[in-house]
Amino acid sequence: MNALTQLAPTLRTACPYCGVGCGVLAQPDGRGGVAIAGDPAHPANLGRLCSKGSALGETVGLEGRLLHPMLRQSDGALARSSWTQALDRVADGFRAIIERDGPDAVAFYLSGQLLTEDYYVANKLMKGFIGSANVDTNSRLCMASTVAGQRRAFGADTVPGSYADLDLADLIVLVGSNAAWCHPVLFQRIMRNKTQRGARIVVIDPRRTVTAQEADLFLPIAPGTDTVLFCGLLVHLAESGALDAAYVEAHTTGFTETLARAREIAPDAGATARACGVAEADIAHFFNLFYASARTVTGFSQGVNQSAQGTDKVNAIINCHLATGRIGRPGMGPFSLTGQPNAMGGREVGGLANQLAAHMGFAPQEIDRVRRFWDAPRMATREGRKAVQMFEAIERGEIKAVWIMATNPAVSLPRAGAMRAALGKLELFVVSENVLSNDTVNAGAHVLLPAAAWGEKGGTVTNSERCISRQRAFLPPPGEAKPDWWIVSAVAQRLGFADAFSFRSEADVFREHAALSGFENDGTRDFDIGGLAAISDHDYNVLEPVQWPMPASQQPAAPPSEKRFFAAGGFFTPDRKARFVPPEPPALQESTSAAFPFRLNTGRIRDQWHTMTRSGQSPRLAAHLAEPFVEVHPQDAGGMGLADGGFAKVSTEHGACILKVMVTDNQRPGSLFVPIHWSDETASCARVGDLVSPRTDPYSGQPEAKATPVTVAPVDFALRGFTRTRNALAMPAGTWWAKVAVAEGMEYRLATSRGPLFWHDFAYRWLGPDAQLAEQLDGTTYRVAAVLDGHLDGCLCVAPAAEVAPQWDLAGLAAAAAAAEDRGRRIPKTQSSDYYIRETEPVVCACFQVGLDAVRKAVNSGGATSVGDIGRTLRAGTNCGSCLPELKRIIVDERIAHPV
Ligand code: SF4
Repeated sequence: MNALTQLAPTLRTACPYCGVGCGVLAQPDGRGGVAIAGDPAHPANLGRLCSKGSALGETVGLEGRLLHPMLRQSDGALARSSWTQALDRVADGFRAIIERDGPDAVAFYLSGQLLTEDYYVANKLMKGFIGSANVDTNSRLCMASTVAGQRRAFGADTVPGSYADLDLADLIVLVGSNAAWCHPVLFQRIMRNKTQRGARIVVIDPRRTVTAQEADLFLPIAPGTDTVLFCGLLVHLAESGALDAAYVEAHTTGFTETLARAREIAPDAGATARACGVAEADIAHFFNLFYASARTVTGFSQGVNQSAQGTDKVNAIINCHLATGRIGRPGMGPFSLTGQPNAMGGREVGGLANQLAAHMGFAPQEIDRVRRFWDAPRMATREGRKAVQMFEAIERGEIKAVWIMATNPAVSLPRAGAMRAALGKLELFVVSENVLSNDTVNAGAHVLLPAAAWGEKGGTVTNSERCISRQRAFLPPPGEAKPDWWIVSAVAQRLGFADAFSFRSEADVFREHAALSGFENDGTRDFDIGGLAAISDHDYNVLEPVQWPMPASQQPAAPPSEKRFFAAGGFFTPDRKARFVPPEPPALQESTSAAFPFRLNTGRIRDQWHTMTRSGQSPRLAAHLAEPFVEVHPQDAGGMGLADGGFAKVSTEHGACILKVMVTDNQRPGSLFVPIHWSDETASCARVGDLVSPRTDPYSGQPEAKATPVTVAPVDFALRGFTRTRNALAMPAGTWWAKVAVAEGMEYRLATSRGPLFWHDFAYRWLGPDAQLAEQLDGTTYRVAAVLDGHLDGCLCVAPAAEVAPQWDLAGLAAAAAAAEDRGRRIPKTQSSDYYIRETEPVVCACFQVGLDAVRKAVNSGGATSVGDIGRTLRAGTNCGSCLPELKRIIVDERIAHPV
């Protein structure tokens, strides 16, 4: 038992980041802060948290929060309003546009960060009462191809397995998944199976991620060739006698056509190897491992989903599991590792434009069933616009009002710059948000509605294994912030739907959601939590994590179980059989060209989440990878004149980013990787959505975020430097900057071609004439520190790029500034001071702030030969484990660099 669990009262809640859905113990300190620990009783994590979850206590501050409703005035400025004024403006605006142009002229854009109750109310309002299905979500950018693939194969969006299967599998295949960084707690569970049971790990990814380095077999396939690989596998399984003929016969249709298509695409291991760009021996090894391992789980994530052929990729994977009957039994099955904390809950309430509610679609009987349940006056009768199409319709002026909740599409959508400009065309642009400023808000929102954040509101979320957990409030909502379900209900009431939106609490909403899932459900719909439809407020408050499917008699306090689907068929198609889906011959991805010769891959880093609104507040998370970067293979770096640690401009026809260069042979030649997290709030020019292709998958509508043709060129800056400040700074135009959270303020990393005198003048304007300064100015360098009441109040340094390192120790600078204050005078500009800016190392272990140099030293002169040795000497890797793969990589790198 850890120290936190001994204190009372603690609140059990759930992590707001990834789809693992870890349980969290929150201990408020009574001063607006909170201590965080993993919940040992939560089945998803059994007390473990990754670096992001562990740092949640650093992210509950109110800096930058939207605390009151705001309305844009005729002069363009935002001004505080009352809730009544703001809600009236939203309701009146939507009503006028609907009456004039019809319901399809309006839209909601939601988020996998919303709670199920929020999602349910928004979906109900749009699809049942406004009469349009123009309600989509950022989950469209995350795992929509899985939804489409599962619906095609299973007849429903059903995840067949449970996390327990990752403990029981003998072979775990990870496709397009950097689970070590993106699902860290689940990945550590996989690694325990490898260590304790000897499970084999195969990683399939164009990029050698930290996940790949843990694999027994790594297949660095060419981008976009996943379908070929799994077609080749299906052919191999058929020809080697690995099929489960009885299962295929009894529970599936379409096998013959699918195998024939697979043979056209990948007739044998040799053809598969050539198409995938991988050695034939490695392909054969993979095929044989799969053949020999009945207990196989194939986990897949954004590398599969975020593709213009994503749905076919999902079905190519599922086909192999159906053909071998490896589904729904312990230790086996296809397993979608969901990106967001409540993408699954959003799917359950029908938060996608091509779903209705409770996993129903737009078949006439389903429309009628939902209409009767809701007593809906104006049911949507056809699918709405999916995310990319929704924003393109805004761009064309066809959608005239949009309400965006809990997401930042001006950063995350393809062609983000154009989408941001399109938002400026709206007649009514409403944003429900936690923060006062982000790229979407700054695109010209007319109405800002302050939404309660994690820790301030309650509800439920569903994780990747269909486990529903409570998020609970442990802090009071600040200012006038309200839960999203309350805000949407208040607008619905103003639109004349008071009876249907008279929810008094999130428990009220949950009961209705649960009742709809069980309504006229005779077992032909997978999602049924009708057993919770009459849950009392008390039982809802104390609800334990509960996995569906659940029997009607399920009591809230029943322990979570390891339930699976489809071991004995029972699919959710009309004939209850699964469908093999012949994938299309892999359409060529958007071609590279002389102008755009590289492929851009995008993804997450270990310690940040989405656009960093929350995780970006944590200094220890910022210390891992602090600046936006592009990974380039050494061969390409040489060819394009790029230097490690320098800068590069990555461009497409849609836009450009300027990023730090990271040269690494973990990248495939011809491919670049850029993380998704930076926005105009956190960097000068690093919004990767500006680059991403708007091509979408024909079935799922999910955009191709992994293979956009781009070009790259070096960018030179004469000087580099940084500032530290307590408050946000407006950087001069033309400066490259990235904002980094530090203790008691923020740091801006700078690169500039303006000389020291410019920065001297800038510092005087910024710090003010009365500041007590320590300065050093010469022909190439300017350093200044300001001290107020004995503390470093701000500082700035610029120096020739060749002389400064990307991170600095400020101790010397602060001491010099303090000395200047002691002397009570400003140091003459020409006087050199005895302070220096000294390089420090990047942080590897976020929990114990252990840096790269310290780890290298432990390996090279401390005799550490394993992560266990490093843990014993430095503590690194002994808490959340998120850095273990990097520690292993450093050990290997140092052994190569310094052989004994
Ligand atoms: S793995 Fe990390 S980010 Fe994901 S839910 Fe768990 S603690 Fe949160």
